[in-house]
Amino acid sequence: MSWDLMALALLIGAIWGSFLNVCIHRIPLEESVVTPRSRCPGCRHLIAWHDNLPIISWLWLRARCRHCQTAISPLYPLVESITALLTLATLYKFGLTPTGVALVVLGYALITLTVIDFYHYILPDVITLPGIGVGVALSFLPWFHEPLAFWQESLAGVVTGGGGFWLFGWLFQRITGKEGLGLGDVKLTALFGAWFGWQALPFIIFMSAVLGSVAGIAWIVVSGRDRSLPIPFGPYLALAAWGYLYLGPMVYGWYLGRPVLLY
Ligand SMILES: [Zn+2]
Repeated sequence: MSWDLMALALLIGAIWGSFLNVCIHRIPLEESVVTPRSRCPGCRHLIAWHDNLPIISWLWLRARCRHCQTAISPLYPLVESITALLTLATLYKFGLTPTGVALVVLGYALITLTVIDFYHYILPDVITLPGIGVGVALSFLPWFHEPLAFWQESLAGVVTGGGGFWLFGWLFQRITGKEGLGLGDVKLTALFGAWFGWQALPFIIFMSAVLGSVAGIAWIVVSGRDRSLPIPFGPYLALAAWGYLYLGPMVYGWYLGRPVLLY
């Protein structure tokens, strides 16, 4: 990848990050992500395009609205920066190929889901359900290669991801007496099954359980969080799935040639 293409990937990623911010704020409210244009939550002024540039405007305006000085959350430039870096890192690793572009789009969906789950404890169906459908559809098309699944692996992934994780949640509830995992987590696991195939699920579920436990305990110990509060699990599932993209080949030995599965 040449330097100018890398710069372009960062720029396009930051612009998409700006759109993800809109999705993150409006989808939990069930508002349209297309219209109307963004307004300052403090003074309702329409935000001019030059005050709405990803990352730059936030720094230039020193994190305040131009009109009423209401503080603008650092979450906006944070999401834009992460989206820009994810775009670059994904295209760098998987190339400017159909697979690379599909993974960038999946990454955008995961950033949106992660932030929404973190603040609202929901993984909206409007993202997870179409995400499952897209994963299955891509598995039937010839232009996509690993780490995306073949269709047999994809369909088996939806069933084992959805069913297995539902069972895991049910057992968790029976044993601990707590509502541990939501249906949103089940759908997100089915989504990863659809995209990466059933064989990715042991890694993703194990890693997310480790990450979630460590973070959950740290959260309670360090910040004195009430242990009866729910802990969003979606962010750890998403992080584990992204880890699978980078560590999966090592763990599963893809470098020895693709393992023969299911056939
Ligand atoms: Zn304002």
